[in-house]
Amino acid sequence: MLDFTIQNVLIAADDDYATVDVQIIDGAIAAIAPNLQIIGTPIDGKNKLLLPGFFNAHTHSSEMWQRGIMSVFPLELWLAELYDFAPLDPEQVYLSALGTAVETLLSGGTSVVDHLVLIPGLELETIAIATRAYREVGIRAFIAPLIQDESLTAGIPSGESAQKHEPYFRSTAATLEIIEEAVRQFHRPDEGINILVAPTGIQLCTDALFAGCTELSDRYNLCRHSHLLETRAQEKLAQEKYGCTAVEHLKRIGYLSDRTTLAHCVWLNDADIAILAETQSTVVHNPLSNLRLGSGIAPILKYRQAGVNVTFGCDGASSNDSQDLLEAIKMGSILHNITDSNYQHWITPRQAVEMASLGGAKGLNIADKLGSLTVGKQADLVLYDLTNLSLLPRTDPIGLLVLGRPTNVVDSAWVNGKQIVADGKVTTINVEQLRQELFNRSQWETKRKSETVAQIEAHYRKVMGL
Ligand SMILES: [Zn+2]
Repeated sequence: MLDFTIQNVLIAADDDYATVDVQIIDGAIAAIAPNLQIIGTPIDGKNKLLLPGFFNAHTHSSEMWQRGIMSVFPLELWLAELYDFAPLDPEQVYLSALGTAVETLLSGGTSVVDHLVLIPGLELETIAIATRAYREVGIRAFIAPLIQDESLTAGIPSGESAQKHEPYFRSTAATLEIIEEAVRQFHRPDEGINILVAPTGIQLCTDALFAGCTELSDRYNLCRHSHLLETRAQEKLAQEKYGCTAVEHLKRIGYLSDRTTLAHCVWLNDADIAILAETQSTVVHNPLSNLRLGSGIAPILKYRQAGVNVTFGCDGASSNDSQDLLEAIKMGSILHNITDSNYQHWITPRQAVEMASLGGAKGLNIADKLGSLTVGKQADLVLYDLTNLSLLPRTDPIGLLVLGRPTNVVDSAWVNGKQIVADGKVTTINVEQLRQELFNRSQWETKRKSETVAQIEAHYRKVMGL
């Protein structure tokens, strides 16, 4: 392990900044103080800001192949279009995982939670190749294989009509076996690769699938992930399915816990919010995706006041349509100023940074090891260049990083003390070659016609009162 000392670097200290040296020994932060002895390689931190790495706490890497082209649709129709045009092969999964990692790193993230869409029939291969991509880049990866055991149309409320749905192509038991095998083959937390249990959400999963995931989570000490109440349709569906809210139901079946992260959480009521607080579940806020799909504005200020842990995600690049974590953090902070006129509740830039770092670590049950610049914690660090044009003139560095439009500001990044970004470039993979591959394997397109959308749109409109 390479030891190093970052010298004369700016860090946040209470309401102010301090200039310090930071020693990294064996992948962990060994000391933070002015004028330390240089251990290992010296790194010039002058005119740079050091922050703990952020978490891109919810994304779907392979959606990168359809960013920019998806129709202007709400989630349920958007999903139908997405899956009609997702003829992915493992090589594409590999490239989009690399791309997701690179964009996350260059916007301040050192960890990514990839709610990974599995290629039917090639499930373990999909997980294997995404794992390979993340290992090659060196980003800390939380791979959450996206599973369901009901077919797509079951995710839309029936309303007055009696809807029949095709059975899902794979049994619940077979799906759980895939996840267990993935845990055996790939779950290596000490090496920065984690497998999560991740049923896609109540809209497409049976209680048996949730129960199986909870059991695997308990047996192998795995974090839990899921979408939750992203749309009004899902709120309606939960009432149809359970006769109560989705949150009440998830609590009843034991899925909520202090290592459960829940993406979106747009349509929760006050009692639901109290349940999230009580179970210490984490909300992953995906503001850009929620706007793009018209899902709604998640009541993030209410979560914070209720003591619910909140962190940020980009969500997949088909509903965003990028993986710029700083953009998600900015939008996820200022969006809520219009939801509460009491400005004392608004999210400050420093709070946003803490949500993006410590908030992510808490949700993944590793706040003792990551998420802050604390002696003893692992060195997942990002160094920002404060001489970059977009961070000038000199004002409040964190204020401008969160509220401005920082461009190419990440100078260096380390994961577990290993440097994987230097001089603004990812050093572990050939990014130029990645760029070429993404270019060569795609083409400019405009109009596409989704057959599934054509089949379900009339019912969707009727049941949603449109
Ligand atoms: Zn998602």
